[in-house]
Amino acid sequence: QKITNSLLYLDGVSVSFDGFKALNSLSFVVAPGELRAIIGPNGAGKTTMMDIITGKTRPDTGTVYFDGQIDLTKKDEADIAQLGIGRKFQKPTVFESHTVWDNIELALNRKRGVFATLFYTLTPADKARIEEILETVRMTARKDHLAGSLSHGQKQWLEIGMLLAQEPKLLLVDEPVAGMTDAETSETAILLKEIAKTRSVVVVEHDMGFIRDLGVKVTCLAEGSVLAEGSIDFVSNDPKVIENYLGR
Ligand code: ADP
Repeated sequence: QKITNSLLYLDGVSVSFDGFKALNSLSFVVAPGELRAIIGPNGAGKTTMMDIITGKTRPDTGTVYFDGQIDLTKKDEADIAQLGIGRKFQKPTVFESHTVWDNIELALNRKRGVFATLFYTLTPADKARIEEILETVRMTARKDHLAGSLSHGQKQWLEIGMLLAQEPKLLLVDEPVAGMTDAETSETAILLKEIAKTRSVVVVEHDMGFIRDLGVKVTCLAEGSVLAEGSIDFVSNDPKVIENYLGR
């Protein structure tokens, strides 16, 4: 049931590093079109979980199902990206000396392979998609600006746009609002909710105001497994969450 109704299903995933259990029989389900927030103390296993999903790390035991019966633990990183999983790391990486438009165009072409990047000519449909992505990530008015001239928060949005150009079914986003202004942080909550209308998004964040703004189901990890899961009010009132995370 969990396999067929979910886009992503981690089933009892464990992984140890030098005898230390970074993930301890972790189970986690994301529905198609769901936006999910992940919280938890440092060392809880949040990064390791993303590494397992994207194939950077192999679990010792357990299975990761994606988009039906596909077992991601049997795929390598490149195949998993191709299947439709995009990952946004915490620090923005954009081509600073290229324009905002060119950054999205390069990302779109990258989906077609190395040679396409050099020789591909954009179709009218490609151009329309780039315009649409620019609109989604609040970059339309800045499309001719150099990426290097953007604020930190705008670079984060541009990189999210670059990931959208790859058309992932699942987008993993690591601490997007760290270093953003308050205005950028609230705008990011709106932006991610818009993006989740057409795909699933999993966002790891420590900013509780932002998590509250998102208003979606929250999973709190600790010591490699799920400590609590539910609405932010439910999770933030859980004594175990207060003891292990919020109260620290
Ligand atoms: P979080 O992202 O929630 O802060 P991590 O997934 O980064 O947690 O880390 C979980 C635990 O696993 C930490 O104690 C960390 O030191 C350990 N760990 C993660 N990756 C490795 C690795 N490649 N080698 C050894 N230990 C690791």
